[in-house]
Amino acid sequence: MAELQAAVIPVTPFQQNCTLLWDDGSKQAWVIDPGGNVPRIREAIGTLGLAVERILLTHGHIDHAGGAAELRDALGVPLDGPDERDAFLLDGLAEQGRAYGMTEARNVRPDRWLLEGDAVTLGSHRFDVLHCPGHTPGHLVFVNRASRFALVGDVLFRGSVGRTDFPYGDPAALLESIRGKLLPLGDDVSFICGHGPGSTIAVERRANPFVAEVLG
Ligand SMILES: [Zn+2]
Repeated sequence: MAELQAAVIPVTPFQQNCTLLWDDGSKQAWVIDPGGNVPRIREAIGTLGLAVERILLTHGHIDHAGGAAELRDALGVPLDGPDERDAFLLDGLAEQGRAYGMTEARNVRPDRWLLEGDAVTLGSHRFDVLHCPGHTPGHLVFVNRASRFALVGDVLFRGSVGRTDFPYGDPAALLESIRGKLLPLGDDVSFICGHGPGSTIAVERRANPFVAEVLG
């Protein structure tokens, strides 16, 4: 099986990790969470020679989704996710953009909402969809069990966890998402997250104080 490759492009004033994921043999690719700086994302796609076939969103925050409409128009590919419970966030992207000086941000609706239990395939690589609420109500995580790899968005970070101090944030749900969905993936699973360096489940189980809290 051809190998999965990934490259991270920090976008927006929030330095969000927009991720390019591709099959090294076919160059079939996904863009995950194009929050903004769309010209920079398109330049990386061109430099790497990738054939993007899909855009995915983990959740509806502006630093993850603010550039999704523009990139979809430019590439002419489908946009999948997040879970429909983040629709209210996607409907407020332009307004949020004005507040944060990200005037290019546009409201967006995906071609397909995703749900827990769905699977999305990149060539021969299957990604399972996990619903991991708490940071936002409709947050999704994408897991390729074969290569022991996950895209966790703003659920879990190296040494930290996603914010829950929004009106719709739910700290208990976030910790339950980590305890019930992410830790069971296994210690050998590595992940790319929405901000900062990636990590592994093993490292976070051992060294992340928020994870220690959910493990009691
Ligand atoms: Zn977020």
